[in-house]
Amino acid sequence: MRVNYHLHNQYSSDGRGGTEEVCETAVELGFEEICFTNHAESLSYERGDWVLDLVEARQRFEHLQHEIERLQPRYPELRILLGGELEYRPEWVETLDALVDSVDFDLILGSVHVVDGQQISAGGSVAEYFKKRDSSDAYGRYFETVDEMLDWGSFDVVAHLDLVKRFGVKYYGPFDPYPFTSQIRGLLEKVVAKGLGLEVNTSGVVQSPAEPFPGLDILRMAREARVATVTIGTDTHVPSSFEQGWEVGMQTLQRAGFSEITLFSHRIRRNVPIAWEPEEVE
Ligand SMILES: [Zn+2]
Ligand SMILES: [Zn+2]
Repeated sequence: MRVNYHLHNQYSSDGRGGTEEVCETAVELGFEEICFTNHAESLSYERGDWVLDLVEARQRFEHLQHEIERLQPRYPELRILLGGELEYRPEWVETLDALVDSVDFDLILGSVHVVDGQQISAGGSVAEYFKKRDSSDAYGRYFETVDEMLDWGSFDVVAHLDLVKRFGVKYYGPFDPYPFTSQIRGLLEKVVAKGLGLEVNTSGVVQSPAEPFPGLDILRMAREARVATVTIGTDTHVPSSFEQGWEVGMQTLQRAGFSEITLFSHRIRRNVPIAWEPEEVE
C-alpha cells in the first residue's frame, strides 16, 4: 500500500509546489493515497517566528480543499486527502481547537517543534535549546512536552515522536532511547488510551539522524504497547523529495512487527494490510 500521509506544499510557509504538481509526482511514483498536512501556523518574517491566526489558517485550508475537490476527478488512481499538522504550543490550543471544529480534515497530525519557547528542529535558535542542556534534559523535556500534547489530544496521530533527535545527535552522538524507556512507554500507553495513532516519519532517513522518527527500537515498544493506528509520511516540503526514505520507513515498520497500516477519511480510520492493493477504480 503506497500512501504518503505527511506532506507540505505551497500552502505551508516552508513548503513549495502546486497541488497539481504534487499529485502528478505521486501518480508517477505509483502512490495510491496522499494527505496534504500543511502547517496551521504560518511564518511571520516581521516577527521572525511562526504565528497562528484562525481566519488565515482556515482560509488557507479551505483553499486547498477546493483545489483537491477540483483535482480529484482527474486522478481516479489517487485518493487525495486534506490533513493538517498542528503545532502544540500551550498558548495556541484554543485557536487550534476552533480550527479543528471548522475545517473538514481527513487527518490531523499533532507535532512538537517548540519546547519552552525554543525551536528544537529548525531555525536559527535551535542551538540555544541544546547548548544549555545535557542529553537527559534536552530529550526528557521534549518528551514531557509531547506528553502535554497528548493530554490536549485534539488530533489523530502523533507526528515524528522523537523529532528532538534530529539535532540531538549533533550534540550528544547517536540517539539511544533506552535511558528514556519508561518515559517513552508512558507516551505510547497514553497514545493507546486516548485512541490516537503514531506516525513513522521518514524525513530523518535522508537527513539527520539517518533513521525514521521514530526508529526501530521505539516502533518495537509501540508494538508491545499495542499501538494499532500507524501512518507513514515522508514530510516532504518540495515535490522533488516526495518519496524520501519511504521504503526504509515501510521496512522498519515491518521489522518492528507491524503488518497493517492505517488509512483515514474524514478522521475515521481503518487498517489495511501493508501489502494491500486497492481495487481498480472503474
Ligand atoms: Zn513537523
Ligand atoms: Zn511536517
